[in-house]
Amino acid sequence: MQRREFLGTGAAVAAAGLGLAGRASADEPLHWKMVTTWPKNFPGLGTGAEFLAQAIGEMSGGRLQVQVYGAGELVPAFEVFDAVSQGAAQMGHGAAYYWKGKNPAFQFFSTMPFGMTANEMNGWLYKGGGMELWEEAYAPFDVVPLAAGNTMVQMGGWFKREIRGLEDLQGLRMRIPGLGGEVLRRVGGTPVNLSGKELLVSLQTGAIDATEWVGPWNDLAFGLHRAAKYYYYPGWHEPGTTLEGLVHRPAFEALPKDLQAIVQNAARATNQDMMADFTAHNNDALKALVEKYEVELRQFPPEVLSALREHAEAVIAEVAETGEFTRRVYDSYQSFYARVRDWTAISEQAYLDTR
Ligand code: CA
Repeated sequence: MQRREFLGTGAAVAAAGLGLAGRASADEPLHWKMVTTWPKNFPGLGTGAEFLAQAIGEMSGGRLQVQVYGAGELVPAFEVFDAVSQGAAQMGHGAAYYWKGKNPAFQFFSTMPFGMTANEMNGWLYKGGGMELWEEAYAPFDVVPLAAGNTMVQMGGWFKREIRGLEDLQGLRMRIPGLGGEVLRRVGGTPVNLSGKELLVSLQTGAIDATEWVGPWNDLAFGLHRAAKYYYYPGWHEPGTTLEGLVHRPAFEALPKDLQAIVQNAARATNQDMMADFTAHNNDALKALVEKYEVELRQFPPEVLSALREHAEAVIAEVAETGEFTRRVYDSYQSFYARVRDWTAISEQAYLDTR
């Protein structure tokens, strides 16, 4: 008992000495920076990051205030993870597959080609052990991950020429990141990774023949229809991409428990809000693209989709072989997916097919 009291006092003194926990509960607010991989206030993604920052500020009564920076304002898009890992910013907002160079296992926490939908991903992350694995994955980098948004099913992308069969994918230079890009390579294409801001110019100059981005709402904002005429669905490569909030672990652990809970629950609210945003806006944007800008909407031919699906299974299985931890993440993802798809088939899928 005495020893416990002594330890308790010690921890309180240490916290007061750091001045972190103490400051947050006093009048003086904490100020955090959030760096993002999106242009400032970009529809859905950038506005999702703003929603997260605002929710934290409001829920904490102004005790924790988060300033959002667009890609390139403080750090370039693809340096967001490192900035949070090193504590240059306390928070970040991005997508886990951008950091696959650090650990191939990260990709499972964003999306898998022909993998789980947004609802299924949330089931895995929150209730199926996914979040715990994600925390384990980022722990060596001093980063705490949060599920903080989902694009839902994306579009297959913009193509300068029609895709009638597999032969039309031969030599196709397409911006498509992550495992989807690797699958494209297996069927003869050349995947390229570019940040969002570079897409339109790259299409216009012919540096790429095709690009995917997100869906009608985001793609219209970038004006991709000005450089490519054919708009393909479905987004087989990103069926429900989870966006992430990143928190510098020492900064997170220095917060009092209530502010930690606020950060976590603000992320959950962001996750839900972003799905509502995409659901509400994508249809209007699609109408504008087709009716006003005369975009040619096309579904990928079945032979193309089945070849892509076959290669996707092989590519994902190969990723699983890259390490013991990646294997565990793969096993967890696949076993949840195998179970949940049976339910989805007789609920959402069966219903959508009949309405
Ligand atoms: Ca995408």
